[in-house]
Amino acid sequence: MAKWVYSFGNGKAEGKAEMRNLLGGKGANLAEMSNLGLPVPPGFTVTTEVCTHYYANKREYPADLRAQVNAALGQVEKITGRKFGDPAKPLLVSVRSGARASMPGMMDTVLNLGLNDTTVEGLAAESGDPRFAYDSYRRFIQMYGDVVLEVDHHHFEELLEQAKSDRGVSLDTDMTADDWKALVAAYKAMVAKQLGRPFPQDPQEQLWGAVGAVFASWMNQRANTYRRLHQIPEEWGTAVNIQAMVFGNMGPDCATGVAFTRDPSTGENEFYGEFLINAQGEDVVAGIRTPQQLTILGKDRQKSKLPSMEEAMPETFAQLCDIRVKLERHYRDIQDIEFTVEKGKLYMLQTRNGKRTAAAALRIAVELAEEGLIDRKTAVGRIDPSSLDQLLHPTLDPKAAKSILTRGLPASPGAASGIVTFSADEAETLAGEGKAVILVRVETSPEDIHGMHAARGILTTRGGMTSHAAVVARGMGRACVAGAGEIRVDYAAKTMSVRGTVIKAGEAITIDGGTGDVFKGEVPTVQPELSGHFATIMEWADSFRRMKVRTNAETPLDARTARRFGAEGIGLCRTEHMFFDPSRITAVREMIVADDASQRAKALAKIQPFQRDDFAELFRIMDGLPVTIRLLDPPLHEFLPHSDADFAELSKATGKSLGELKARAEKLTEMNPMLGHRGCRLAVTYPEIYQMQARAIFEACAIVGKETGRKVEPEIMIPLVAMKRELDLMRDHIAKVAEEVRASSGVEISYMLGTMIELPRAALRASEIAETAEFFSFGTNDLTQTTFGLSRDDSAAFLGAYESQKILTRDPFVSMDIDGVGELVAIGTSRGRATRKNLKVGICGEHGGDPASIHFCERTGLDYVSCSPYRVPIARLAAAQAAIQAAPAKAAAKPTAKPSTERHNRVLISAGRRAAGSRVSAGRNFAAPTARPGKKKPAPKPVVKKTPVKKAAPAKKKAAPVKKAPAKKIAKKPAPKKKAPVKKPAKKLKKR
Ligand code: PEP
Ligand code: MG
Repeated sequence: MAKWVYSFGNGKAEGKAEMRNLLGGKGANLAEMSNLGLPVPPGFTVTTEVCTHYYANKREYPADLRAQVNAALGQVEKITGRKFGDPAKPLLVSVRSGARASMPGMMDTVLNLGLNDTTVEGLAAESGDPRFAYDSYRRFIQMYGDVVLEVDHHHFEELLEQAKSDRGVSLDTDMTADDWKALVAAYKAMVAKQLGRPFPQDPQEQLWGAVGAVFASWMNQRANTYRRLHQIPEEWGTAVNIQAMVFGNMGPDCATGVAFTRDPSTGENEFYGEFLINAQGEDVVAGIRTPQQLTILGKDRQKSKLPSMEEAMPETFAQLCDIRVKLERHYRDIQDIEFTVEKGKLYMLQTRNGKRTAAAALRIAVELAEEGLIDRKTAVGRIDPSSLDQLLHPTLDPKAAKSILTRGLPASPGAASGIVTFSADEAETLAGEGKAVILVRVETSPEDIHGMHAARGILTTRGGMTSHAAVVARGMGRACVAGAGEIRVDYAAKTMSVRGTVIKAGEAITIDGGTGDVFKGEVPTVQPELSGHFATIMEWADSFRRMKVRTNAETPLDARTARRFGAEGIGLCRTEHMFFDPSRITAVREMIVADDASQRAKALAKIQPFQRDDFAELFRIMDGLPVTIRLLDPPLHEFLPHSDADFAELSKATGKSLGELKARAEKLTEMNPMLGHRGCRLAVTYPEIYQMQARAIFEACAIVGKETGRKVEPEIMIPLVAMKRELDLMRDHIAKVAEEVRASSGVEISYMLGTMIELPRAALRASEIAETAEFFSFGTNDLTQTTFGLSRDDSAAFLGAYESQKILTRDPFVSMDIDGVGELVAIGTSRGRATRKNLKVGICGEHGGDPASIHFCERTGLDYVSCSPYRVPIARLAAAQAAIQAAPAKAAAKPTAKPSTERHNRVLISAGRRAAGSRVSAGRNFAAPTARPGKKKPAPKPVVKKTPVKKAAPAKKKAAPVKKAPAKKIAKKPAPKKKAPVKKPAKKLKKR
């Protein structure tokens, strides 16, 4: 008989932490905490396999599930001495979802289940507190009505507001037993009216209704969105946890709270959290009441007037501190915990590895390693490479003029400016139009997740550091200011106002998620300094990394930035990007429209000094690191004039008529430019273009070689090669130029010649191409385009449908299609190396900065990855993680040092708190959705400058005259091995 249900409680459990796939994260950890002897209310977990069965069998449960649930419920009854549905001593339960991966707030929860008109009286009599009993009952009807019976939330809210206003009170805590009793009656009447049937009184019916609702919520829209953003497979399913209720709302000696064993925003080793006296768990996260801080330190930092738990409940707080230490030592990671205090007794309701900001993740990983709880490999493995993007978030320019509007809580770091919008849908629409948006809400709910993801920043007027907005924004890496209570939001009028200042939708504001400040208008930002922990992790990562990490850069700014981030060379210098500068575009156009070789030579002679100086500057910046220069790639028509002014300027420069020029432009226009006259095909017809570029490269080598006294050995890369003969021709053109420059400068010219592999034919014929090529660089942007036959420039419009219909799980231009494109990369690599054993192989498509693709590159034995400058740290880390994973079992991450309680405690003490059994300080965290980057619409990033795939204009440079270099040998390496006879350059520019 299949086992569908796993019990826990009373110091033991059938499950354990390792069983999270079956029990979900929450269920597995409840079992683990029970096994650890922590005070966990008894309960049981219905496995994720039931969820899978449920969806595979038209929403039917396995036949023997009911019997197993009843048996497990019987055990809970035995442990608690209560009975489900018993009129005198009723057992009440919570019913909660719990997937393998945490999905905070995405699925449904029901508390206080088992209450009905009879059991509520039993609870009142037993507790001697009818107010508590009816408060619990009204909460249950509301939650169950909303979640299970799908009665719209606002019906309940309206009745509650009405009841409070009738009584003339503003706080829930001012309501009496009779008030709640009357509200219960009103709720039930409303539900009966809405549904045409009464609120269910049978606890068994309630239970199965709630279980069904939890399973159904696995497929709700917000859960689907969350799964898509986090790449959580649908097949995983959710478990359902049914657990005896404990009550934080039974009076002033009761409380409920959430905490982090370290600060999840900064990583500081301080106990960090919030709690509410006389409340139930949902009150803390819902942001309905302003929570109190756990510690005195937290209270001081938040400038809160409310007493901390450390002051209000010192003994229970001390117990919680013990548990903090125990859990961290056990899980060897920051824990995110939920607890309830019932009549002074502490209960643990949840623990899980705490989500954290990227900065906190770095600090925690480094400090846990230093405390001996984990080793360095584990520390490196703990950082999500994509999350490093968060560290690059800008901060406000301290010198900028600012007009402060108000202040809220610093809920998620980073500064962001944008236009105000008050709805998540609108935020998504505006962001889709390329606008920077700040989503302003009274509070957010899981329904807002798409708008929060689309927005640059989130501002709420209600809720604390653990409110939904704070939790989700931190996980997404969005700036967030929460609980800015001075702001009044009028959704209907689409305005927000603060002390007389009114901001309308569409007007700009700036928020600083690091300080909580909110400013009117747009405030300039500056780039952040990277922390010491970042450097430490990077250093550790580099010690485990096998592959090199280079950058795709052609401007001095990008090259310098990349070096600052640790790039070990340039893997792709797109030379066409150097052509778009306004100071040189006319010369480039002259070259294109030239009628004969001499006109063309004249134009190329104008361009060449620019190119030479650009290359020389890159060689200087890279200071001996490898530099791969790709010769001109895109279709010529991309350089043609567009506006009348462009044509007029070109006409002046060339002496050609406007009519002639327009006709020429027309002729150069292609039906399918991505598959047209581009890449090496250009130099097959116009070899003098590549010859000019080669000359510029070699002259730059000679200049910088002379300056530094060190040889400069560039890697010259030919794009879009499909056939060996193409490469052979290019090799010969380049070799001829090398010889000429050697002769004229007296400097020995040394270089490597390689090719991009970006066409399936090139990958398949790699063995013969490698006879000529000394290196390969996989251009996976084009290789993806040509493998799928999917236009890079047009696919964004319909790839969404491919993802939603599960034809593709990820955009293949973002993360490599391992099965198809990956197979070509593997074939190309192995066939190339079969010919040339020491063939250097890298990747320079956008995938070179994507962690999943980097793992593939490691497995395939590539020598390096190359990516845009701001992705270099991500690639370094991902490459290290890939190497660690690929290493044999001995390298598996295990703590080197046995964690010692003393050592860990010492650290806690040195962090300003007392150790195990004493006081500590606390926090809360977040999902980390990785923004789905697209080629055309990159996720907003605080980068100084990002080089787009095409058409970036390089910094302006002055042309320097060619100096004759004195004869000096700077390198001995011979030029390409096979020297084919020099071919005569084409006499005339021919059209394709
Ligand atoms: C590629 O095709 O992967 C590549 C790096 O070249 P580009 O993006 O410039 O076509
Ligand atoms: Mg390409």
